[in-house]
Amino acid sequence: MTPIEVYKELPRTNCGKCPAGTCMSFAVQFLRRTVSLSDCPGLDEESAEKIRSMLPDTGDWKEKRLEELFREVSAMDFPDIAKRAGAECRDDLLRIRYMGRDIALGRSGFEDEMDILDKLLIMMYLKNRGTASPSGKWVAFRDLKDGLIRAESFHGACEIPIAKMLQHDTERLLKRLSAMGAERAGGFSADYSLVVYPLPRIPFLVLLWRGDEEFGAECKLLTDSTAADFLDVEALLYLGMALVRALK
Ligand code: SF4
Repeated sequence: MTPIEVYKELPRTNCGKCPAGTCMSFAVQFLRRTVSLSDCPGLDEESAEKIRSMLPDTGDWKEKRLEELFREVSAMDFPDIAKRAGAECRDDLLRIRYMGRDIALGRSGFEDEMDILDKLLIMMYLKNRGTASPSGKWVAFRDLKDGLIRAESFHGACEIPIAKMLQHDTERLLKRLSAMGAERAGGFSADYSLVVYPLPRIPFLVLLWRGDEEFGAECKLLTDSTAADFLDVEALLYLGMALVRALK
């Protein structure tokens, strides 16, 4: 499938309401998976279906899942979602803090350009509408509900890469965490202890130990014991990976 084939099915008004700005740019970015069909408010269901049917069957679950989640969330009560998710709702627009950025979501899609995995995480979080109040009790990934199954993956994909960043350039890592709104936390034996909120109800406690001649740097990521009420452990693993991407 080529950008021209996608372009032909778009409204072709260059209205500028999508993150891509123009229809041709949208077509190119759609094939790169940096925008989704729901980002074009003028696209009717018939044309969207035609584009979907032209996509090679590569098992592109991300695009399909995002479409499903978007349909489910846009049918929900935005003020109620905002209240539960720690977001804001104004003029039928949800504003949510994600990785230190303010992200806006309307009933016709995201107003900001983002990787599709980040969009999926935000949409899953909004759809789940967890009801727990953060307990203030920090737990390891393995101690979350079903966490043991993915604990090794979480260590390899999240804690080890952050430890490597610490070893490589401590100052840069601390600056990136600070830019995300991370705040120092007291009472821990690590060299640096910071709390960062990738999503409003899901904090990570980042514990960092500098390395020495004998041992390399170490990182431990803990989260609130209620985190799995807002995202399941699979999604929490992806949230940790998204944190690593954002820190790079
Ligand atoms: S929102 Fe749709 S019609 Fe408007 S510029 Fe983007 S792709 Fe084109």
